Amino acid sequence: MKVGIIGGGIGGTALAWALLQKGIEVAIFEQADAFGEVGAGVQITPNAVKAIKGMGLYDQLLDRAFYPQAIVGRNWQSAAENFRIPLGQEFRDHYDAPFIHIHRADLLELFATGLPAGICHFGARCTGVEETATGARASFADGSAFEADVIVGADGVRSAVRGSVFGETAMRWTGHMCYRALVPTGGVVDHVSPDSSFWMGPNAHVVTYYVKGGEMVNIVAVAETSEWVAESWSTQTSREEMLATFEGWNGALGRLFADVDEVFAWGLFDRDPMESWVRGHVTLLGDACHPMLPFLSQGAGMAIEDALVLAEALAASPSDVPLALSRYEAERLPRTARVQLEARERGRTYHLPTPEEMAARDAEYARRAREEPRTTGINTDWVYDYDPRAFAAGLRAPEEA
Ligand SMILES: Cc1cc2nc3c(=O)[nH]c(=O)nc-3n(C[C@H](O)[C@H](O)[C@H](O)COP(=O)(O)OP(=O)(O)OC[C@H]3O[C@@H](n4cnc5c(N)ncnc54)[C@H](O)[C@@H]3O)c2cc1C
Repeated sequence: MKVGIIGGGIGGTALAWALLQKGIEVAIFEQADAFGEVGAGVQITPNAVKAIKGMGLYDQLLDRAFYPQAIVGRNWQSAAENFRIPLGQEFRDHYDAPFIHIHRADLLELFATGLPAGICHFGARCTGVEETATGARASFADGSAFEADVIVGADGVRSAVRGSVFGETAMRWTGHMCYRALVPTGGVVDHVSPDSSFWMGPNAHVVTYYVKGGEMVNIVAVAETSEWVAESWSTQTSREEMLATFEGWNGALGRLFADVDEVFAWGLFDRDPMESWVRGHVTLLGDACHPMLPFLSQGAGMAIEDALVLAEALAASPSDVPLALSRYEAERLPRTARVQLEARERGRTYHLPTPEEMAARDAEYARRAREEPRTTGINTDWVYDYDPRAFAAGLRAPEEA
């Protein structure tokens, strides 16, 4: 079995690593000249940490991680807590994994460093994929082509594989944009708590957390806007614009924003869940098939879960690719669709506009958090509970029985 992966982001490199662990031949094609990630943080929740454990990279992940103490919901002006989910030992024991923060480049490196150079093809921009009699063929901008038993499109929100095999569909402009910045602090500082803090205000919210072992603070500040903003990691904006947008918010945020050097603007787009993402010997993974808003911190996590499940499915039935891909889709599509839609809904609840609506929401958070902080604070138990390793156990069970 030979698998071709289009796209060397977090999802593509995770899949390449997971397939190699199963002894499956892999080639990975990335349009850029090298693997690379932007300077930003990412929250990796227990469900995705379990997938990384399943790939044998747990210790290496923890070496690069920052452990937040809690997920905390805060009032945009007073900083008063309206919920707190402790992330200590009890949380880790319950989910069999911690909740961590990591720099995106460190996460990518986790998967990419172990890939043999000979399987990585750079400067390879895929223009389309088609089925062949026994597998699939990917074509590239330089006129070359590659055939394999399976081709996986892990080429992100604007996936060429998706477009060529499943048809082009328009992305939905959500009317949200986010300011993204990393602030070097040299360590944990007084005005930024060592938590995953969600500051919720009218028509906007801000998320702050540490990465790089506490050396830097990652800022994702989401605002509503009537002007269209490009979906891009490289559109720069100014500190002044960010400060003006969040004028009147808590002073701790103002102090943090004042230390920002570079700010990027990211327009938020999403798509409705797909009905199917398998066609013959071609499938998709990560943002290529389920792009989502970042409000549940799950896009990279879902791509990593996909990678483990797809590798397990292909390893379990290497001579029956359609069976493997249908098992992959059946396991992953309903879950990722639910996460996509729930993330969209968070965009509404985090941004309630009036003081009355915000007070009612916060009272409800507080009530749930008092009852059982872990399970009901912001109701993410169903996301974190999932264990992608159970999929492999389920595949083995009938044969063992
Ligand atoms: C502001 C923000 C905050 C976020 N925070 C979190 C978070 O806290 N936790 C979380 O889990 N997720 C988070 N996400 C989501 C996460 O960043 C994405 O879901 C994740 O990066 C998707 O990975 P991917 O590999 O599917 O796609 P990508 O990272 O987009 O990788 C696709 C790769 O394919 C390559 N490529 C594209 N087209 C071609 C082509 N035609 N030929 C060859 N190569 C191609 C690209 O160069 C790229 O390397 C956040 C997203 C945003 C915008």
